[in-house]
Amino acid sequence: MIPIAKPYLDKEEAESAYSVIMSGWVAQGPKVEEFEKKFCEYTGAEYAVAVSNCTNALHLSMIVSGISGGDEVICPSMSYIATANSVAYTGGIPVFAEVSPADYNLDPDNVRSLITVRTKAILVAHQIGMPADIDEFRKICRDNNLKLIEDAACAIGSEYKGEKIGVHSELVCFSFHPRKVMTTGEGGMITTNNKDYYERLKLLRQHAISISGKERHSSDKLTFEDHLETGYNYRMTDIQAAIGIKQLGKLDYIIKERRRIASLYISGLKDIDCIRLPLEPDNRKSNYQSFAIYLNEKSPLSRNEVMQKLLNEGISVRKGVMTSHRESAYRTKNELRLPVSEDLCDRSFMIPLYVPMDEKDIFHIINSLRKILKNII
Ligand SMILES: *Cc1c(COP(=O)(O)O)cnc(C)c1O
Repeated sequence: MIPIAKPYLDKEEAESAYSVIMSGWVAQGPKVEEFEKKFCEYTGAEYAVAVSNCTNALHLSMIVSGISGGDEVICPSMSYIATANSVAYTGGIPVFAEVSPADYNLDPDNVRSLITVRTKAILVAHQIGMPADIDEFRKICRDNNLKLIEDAACAIGSEYKGEKIGVHSELVCFSFHPRKVMTTGEGGMITTNNKDYYERLKLLRQHAISISGKERHSSDKLTFEDHLETGYNYRMTDIQAAIGIKQLGKLDYIIKERRRIASLYISGLKDIDCIRLPLEPDNRKSNYQSFAIYLNEKSPLSRNEVMQKLLNEGISVRKGVMTSHRESAYRTKNELRLPVSEDLCDRSFMIPLYVPMDEKDIFHIINSLRKILKNII
């Protein structure tokens, strides 16, 4: 069975984690600091704050943006549910906007139409690695005095107008879950160019403690801490950071390979007229965290039939990105309808993409899809 995804880990990460374990300092410490510094170098961001996962990165970003009870944050429903949850944790209200079929990202016109006096922020996701049209959302935020937060869980290494995701707005959140392009087991990062945000994020991730463990351990004076506000334990460990540093070193290769495999899929499938492929709009480069195929009305088979037939060929498949507004957690009495998001979710599926991937598996997937959808190889 060809898996849907696989992390690119080897002895390098294992040895790196081993050294941290043997050093005796395993919690947040020098490796986390080094990982943050390297993450800034990679993305071009001024500051980076490592945390335990992207959900927590988003939660802290909501807090430093001042989101609290009753505030509205416009975000996609068609996203992993963590996007909406991060708003709900603060008592804020996720206001679900439509996405565009072209890039699976928030539709700027629909976002504009949802702005009210209670709107405080827009939470843009770069879905499955394809950058959203960030400048559009920066403009909407500027015109309406809103905060912009990027859910870049899937978009490490993706590019918008020649720059890596991580530098275009004041709060950008990344994930290092194994299903993403690089991993630390679990893990997350926030990049920012705002020094005040940076300082507060560092406090909030460790119970808003006034002095760090490092300062206390290296001080020859007796020091006592204060807890400045209600903070959280959202720390990353040095074991995770040591793995992350090695993964960062491989990231350019991983993304080059992912893009090569995606282009093989695209050239092998582009003449099939009952599907839409994930093509990049001008000035945007995807890391192809996932490869989603949309099945249009011309398809001889339903989405689930296609998925079952791929499974019969030994190919793992997943359905498209979920919609949050149809989950019990967010279902409302007056049944919100988001026809574009629902259609994209219900008619799309994902095929395997990971590094390294056997050439024969890549072509088995292309040929199976051609056979199922077109009856030709
Ligand atoms: C994976 C994902 C998250 C959550 O990331 P974790 O690190 O697992 O918390 C949030 N948003 C999107 C769009 C994701 O794909």
